[in-house]
Amino acid sequence: TCVSPFLDPGPRTKANSLAIVQLSRDNLLPVYLQVPNGEHDGYAEGAVVNTRYGSFPHSTMLDVPWGSQIRASKVDTGSRGRKRKREADDQACREATAVSEKDEEPSAAGADRDGAAAVKQAVADSSGFVHILPPTPELWTTSLPHRTQVVYTPDYSYILHRIRARPGSTLIEAGAGSGSFTHAAVRAVYNGYPAEGQRKGKVFSFEFHEQRYQKMKKELSDHGLEGLVQLTHRDVYSGGFLVDGKSPEADAVFLDLPAPWEALPHLSRRRPQDMADTDGAAAGNGQQSWVSPLNPRKSVYICTFSPCIEQVTRTVSAMRRLGWVDIDMVEIANRKLHASRDRVGLNLNFDRGVNNSPRDVEEALARLAEIEARSREQAAKPRDADADEDMDLADEVGAPAKGNEARNGEHAPSTEETSTATAPWMEGRLITRGEPEIKSHTSYLVFAVLPMEWTEQDEAAAAAKYPVGK
Ligand code: SAM
Repeated sequence: TCVSPFLDPGPRTKANSLAIVQLSRDNLLPVYLQVPNGEHDGYAEGAVVNTRYGSFPHSTMLDVPWGSQIRASKVDTGSRGRKRKREADDQACREATAVSEKDEEPSAAGADRDGAAAVKQAVADSSGFVHILPPTPELWTTSLPHRTQVVYTPDYSYILHRIRARPGSTLIEAGAGSGSFTHAAVRAVYNGYPAEGQRKGKVFSFEFHEQRYQKMKKELSDHGLEGLVQLTHRDVYSGGFLVDGKSPEADAVFLDLPAPWEALPHLSRRRPQDMADTDGAAAGNGQQSWVSPLNPRKSVYICTFSPCIEQVTRTVSAMRRLGWVDIDMVEIANRKLHASRDRVGLNLNFDRGVNNSPRDVEEALARLAEIEARSREQAAKPRDADADEDMDLADEVGAPAKGNEARNGEHAPSTEETSTATAPWMEGRLITRGEPEIKSHTSYLVFAVLPMEWTEQDEAAAAAKYPVGK
């Protein structure tokens, strides 16, 4: 069976496996869940995740269905906690003695304060919650320990699609960096249990920075991805892409390197010096006879990722000289839109003209109550043909109901003005706004294809297989 939680997380969380703890929408924490073993970091419960939303012992997150909400726990801090408790008890005892000596009743204000503090403490101890999610490349990209700039989801989704990374593909990647792209790539090429004659799908990854290489190696092992990603510690500008002297036979290549043009000569089908007009490109790959790292039976798709346009022009120029075709450049400009319905500002007329805002919270609540009552009435009535049409349209394209559409972030006319039969979730004006903190940059993506070489034997085989005129 597949041991990687990225590829087959199973229905529930597991011990000694990676889980993503979601603190808030964009605040994610990767955690390797551990079985409680008496004391750990001073906690009797074993390992504990401490957050601003409370404490979460691993034991409360183990063997639960993915997506579960986990409530914060009051943790027993073991010996450390016992010492703290003893000190607190001593202090309480000293204070009690002082009060009885003075023969004073604690004041009501003091009791209130104590009560409020106790409530506050109880809230802090147990009211917070987190969700526990299975690891995916997207969540890993958001939560991974950064060692370098990384490729973000909007870019790698597009890249993997354009370089045709599919189940069974072999992909070359350099450099590995923080492994963000690697995780997305391995999921794209993973082929489960391939049938006889089908390829398994593999990523050959290269990184020349010793510490990054070591960290990445450990992560791949912790994530159960070792068999699917082969990581090599190498400078690919001088050493190329063969692994143990053999060709990975790659179908697709992704280069996230400062100088992709220095790696490109190693990604030829023939020794670069033997090709016309290569401008003295780098030497071969240390073999007596040239071995190409590319799949000889397929056209190979490449993407290079570079932040500066100067890098792009040098890369494109090298690609042209080395026989790559269909070269184009793309920049991903990702924009997230937050869409919501402004129900409080809804115009219910109230004999005060159009677009009147509620005067205060009471009026807003009264209007909402009225909207809900109307919605219930509407729901009780049989739906007319027009209403069905509205719903169908909305279901199909996520569009607002007829007469209630908004374009380019403009406020749509309120439902009151335009429609008589509206579902509760369609009430209010549709509002969209751009979210400012978008993580994608980013770089220019250069795509190209190196066609399969067509030999006399290929021609003969094709002619035999598809005889002309028969
Ligand atoms: N794509 C990665 C990710 O998504 O996490 C980030 C890659 S990072 C921007 C570039 C990496 O390339 C660095 O880790 C760097 O050490 C590595 N690198 C640079 N030149 C290299 C070379 N000649 N051979 C191998 N790796 C190289």
